[in-house]
Amino acid sequence: MPPLSAAGRFAPSPSGDLHVGNLRTAILAWLFARSTGRTFLVRVEDLDRSRTGFAERQLADLAAVGLEWDGNPVLQTARRGLYQDAIVRLADAGLVYECFCTRAEIAEAPSAPHAPAGAYPGTCRNLTASERERRRRDRPAALRLRAGVAEFSITDQLHGAVTGAVDDFVLRRNDGVPAYNLAVVVDDAAQAVDQVVRGDDLLTSAPRQAYLASLLGLPSVDYAHVPLVLNTHHRRLAKRDGAVTLDSLRLAGWDTANVRDAMLRSTGLPAGPLDRALGAFSPEALSTEPWIFDPPETTPGG
Ligand code: GLU
Repeated sequence: MPPLSAAGRFAPSPSGDLHVGNLRTAILAWLFARSTGRTFLVRVEDLDRSRTGFAERQLADLAAVGLEWDGNPVLQTARRGLYQDAIVRLADAGLVYECFCTRAEIAEAPSAPHAPAGAYPGTCRNLTASERERRRRDRPAALRLRAGVAEFSITDQLHGAVTGAVDDFVLRRNDGVPAYNLAVVVDDAAQAVDQVVRGDDLLTSAPRQAYLASLLGLPSVDYAHVPLVLNTHHRRLAKRDGAVTLDSLRLAGWDTANVRDAMLRSTGLPAGPLDRALGAFSPEALSTEPWIFDPPETTPGG
């Protein structure tokens, strides 16, 4: 069993209402945490892509499907000092450099030999002090990690051993906002999160995050990247696919319990209150195949 304070979490970005894919991931994160005796935390990842009012709506929807979390949800915007401290520690160890590249420059730069597609080509890695001085006049710098490896391995409960690319990824964007990969690592450690359950679109980020945690001397976490929900064209579910949020599904005649039950059945679990699903939950039985969701028609005017 994990230590008493060990936690799992769900960490949505408040950029819109949660859809059945997000809600299903939240339910799975809760099941993984509760079935292993962990506390379950909700963290509002509002550093970026945050829109007023959506954090509250997301929390209300999580509660509506029956999720209960421990303590008050933490907001990343209230924790900027923690991210800055981590950057200072990395910088003191010589692991941070300023980067002045625009997206277009990165896209056009020849990639470094043997580097995986999309890896930062290292343009600003070895600028001299006077070059940096000159470039700062044109554009504020982003901060990048001076990575010492090209790949890193993690173990995932659903995907097994996964080795993925690590490049000089951004730690702080050039608008001063801490980058997701930094914030998530700092927060998980600060909140004693040792179990990360989230959508498998983030599986490729896990090696970068685990590597960063190791540089900061932070404990490693158990990962479970769960399958996404896709639309009938096998693309990641999105709001434009129709009735996919609790609110819009209500207009199509599905009450919250119907939505919860559909999500549970899609994972092979019994319908009904979440405690019943908890009794039947076994991570080994989970599929890595996506759930195809065909939204019901909404009748005009509700
Ligand atoms: N905030 C991220 C998202 O909504 C998830 C971060 C995570 O679970 O690590 O996609």
